Amino acid sequence: MSNSDQIQRILFDELDIRGAVVGLEDSYHQALQNHGYPQVIRQVLGELMAAAALLSTNLKFEGRLILQVAGQDAVKVLMAECTDQQELRAIARFDGELPEQASFRELVSGGQMAITIQPKQGQRYQGVVPLEGDTLSQCLESYFSASEQLPTQIMLAADGDKAAGMMVQVLPVSGNSDEDWLRISHLTSTLKDEELLYLDNETLLYRLYHEETCRLFEADKVTFRCDCSRERSAASLRYMSREELEQIIEEEGAVAVNCQFCNSSYAFGRADLDQVFVPNDGDEQPPLQH
Ligand SMILES: [Zn+2]
Repeated sequence: MSNSDQIQRILFDELDIRGAVVGLEDSYHQALQNHGYPQVIRQVLGELMAAAALLSTNLKFEGRLILQVAGQDAVKVLMAECTDQQELRAIARFDGELPEQASFRELVSGGQMAITIQPKQGQRYQGVVPLEGDTLSQCLESYFSASEQLPTQIMLAADGDKAAGMMVQVLPVSGNSDEDWLRISHLTSTLKDEELLYLDNETLLYRLYHEETCRLFEADKVTFRCDCSRERSAASLRYMSREELEQIIEEEGAVAVNCQFCNSSYAFGRADLDQVFVPNDGDEQPPLQH
């Protein structure tokens, strides 16, 4: 396959076009693990993870890129996040009967999709991705050409076991002729799912661009990693009042916070509540109370 759990940037020496190719295997398995997703969800989540990894190569700072879809039918949420360190996590939520096979458009019709860039420091940015294409890659391509004015070609494939993606994109300040872009995007579009999933990166590149001058950068490792923590889980409990939490602990012995991404469970007993309601800069009240 495209090299497992690696992302590699592609450089076209004579063109203002950048690219990247990603292959996911262990990271994909770990994201799916313990969730019991049906095949149709495994596939769409694999594509979403590959897309998040590809788009994260555009991050210029510490932070994360989040692709999120809110659906209206059986699929309620699809989400994949990738940090600037290529740490991925993903989640799907659905309800009721799912089709055995469905296009991206069928799964999320009437829903909404957003790309969020969340820097560690500074303002977060969110862009709306119109769900107008049949596939996830078509939706993302139109987003980049319409909203970002960056012609982009994205190829994604996932079979429940492996996921892979390839992207080529015109650089923001580009001296390319349209012909250059048309040629490269046309070559990229000839890539078949099986090639993307099963050919190694060197072979892939040769197969597509052997008449171009292009190179692969050194590979970066892609890993599954959930950054949930006891501290963050404690913070999420501050949305409830101390009395409500004491009530639950009285009845159930502890308040449990489950991470939807990795299934970690954090339990808080009565003795932990002082930790949850740490006075904040002399402020006796929790920051948010509903
Ligand atoms: Zn987690």
